[in-house]
Amino acid sequence: MSPRTFTEILLTGLAPDGGLAMPEAYPEISSATLESWRPLDYPSLAFEILSRFMDDIPADDLRTLIARTYTPEIFGSKDITPVQTLEPDLHLLHLSNGPTLAFKDIAMQFMGNLFEYVLAKNNDELNILGATSGDTGSSAEYAMRGKQGIHVFMLSPYGKMSAFQTAQMFSLQDENIFNIAIEGVFDDCQDIVKTVSNDQAFKQQYRIGAVNSINWARIAAQVVYYFKAYFAVTRSSDEVVSFSVPSGNFGNIFAGHVARMMGLPIRKLILATNENDVLDEFFRTGLYRPRSTAETRQTSSPSMDISKASNFERFIFDLTGRDAERVKELWKSVDQGGSFDLSGTDLWAKIRDFGITSGTSCHAERINTIREIYRKFNVLIDTHTADGLKTGMALREPGIPLICLETALPVKFADSIREAVGFELEQPAGYDNLESLPQRFERMAADAEQVKQFMASRIDSSDKINKS
Ligand SMILES: *Cc1c(COP(=O)(O)O)cnc(C)c1O
Repeated sequence: MSPRTFTEILLTGLAPDGGLAMPEAYPEISSATLESWRPLDYPSLAFEILSRFMDDIPADDLRTLIARTYTPEIFGSKDITPVQTLEPDLHLLHLSNGPTLAFKDIAMQFMGNLFEYVLAKNNDELNILGATSGDTGSSAEYAMRGKQGIHVFMLSPYGKMSAFQTAQMFSLQDENIFNIAIEGVFDDCQDIVKTVSNDQAFKQQYRIGAVNSINWARIAAQVVYYFKAYFAVTRSSDEVVSFSVPSGNFGNIFAGHVARMMGLPIRKLILATNENDVLDEFFRTGLYRPRSTAETRQTSSPSMDISKASNFERFIFDLTGRDAERVKELWKSVDQGGSFDLSGTDLWAKIRDFGITSGTSCHAERINTIREIYRKFNVLIDTHTADGLKTGMALREPGIPLICLETALPVKFADSIREAVGFELEQPAGYDNLESLPQRFERMAADAEQVKQFMASRIDSSDKINKS
């Protein structure tokens, strides 16, 4: 199959055969190059890494896009992703200081600028349709607000997100952002997205696209902070570190895998799940068995409540030595609601080379971890980060620095924090009156036709304004 350029796959994340897009090869970073990157600040390091993936964007343009994205104004500090040392060999990598207080901002803020740039260049427009139960939707809206050539239509289950998350999304007054509150649950929202996306005529006429977690550019942008954190806790590139990663759709940890394949000295990538343990089951047993909606539990780390992991196929592609046919074969049964079992196969024998180990946690363990970390280090973490710390501390090895990825701020999960430490958290500056701001959303029945009509009318009327 002939390769596509980076911008050709940017808007879909898909390869021409319908599989997930992957770079032809990972860029190899020698230890001399690695050492030369050590002193770089975040934007310069991001340029070195992203330019190796985004080959058809002129270097000066890429530098500008990166410089506009990774600023102290947007991410709260010059470091962008600061590392905090809890005790010798135990570190917290802060990824949640962007506008929506969760790690998805790191990639999504870049995507907003990148989309706007590519669309302007091609004189094109994009209407993003998505479904959210929290973090992804608000992160996408804050990244795309006010961007030329882009509308966002975000479906969420009416009355089912936390008050903070609802206020974060619905208080946006930007004319290119449309919140649609569906009378139903998250799966109803996702079904509507699927129905609309399957209507090829509608999709083409209205330039419908997505920014979901399979987007390759999002993965690439997340590779950067693995390097940044490595430099923060080591003195020379002879040293190895391990990472623990609260995981859902396998996007974040897959970026860690890419960093490792590029040559970053990562010993272990510790994958943490909550009660929805489809990935932990695979890395312990070799069985990949996506769950049904009915089997998927609502937990206190809701952004990890997944039934199947959308990026997992990319990892299996690498595990097979990049054998697309073999991946297709394995996914034949997965796509029909089935499973596959690699135990006892040649693939399972190779899995240790990839450095991923895993564990799981339940609500009581997360609450205990939050309490313990607060008691010992006077640091408050959220429930997702607690998943990562719990499994990370259980599986870490003596003498190997462990870097735990913080994926959201605790203020977003006030109930669990109260349960763990017995007090309320103050909202950070700028967020204190969020819940009293006027809210802007459309309430709608769980009906794809109504959603389509609404989208069509809004897109048509904005086209008229732009053309007049
Ligand atoms: C999305 C999310 C995750 C899971 O990340 P994946 O890339 O889907 O594995 C973990 N924690 C938080 C807070 C998130 O928003």
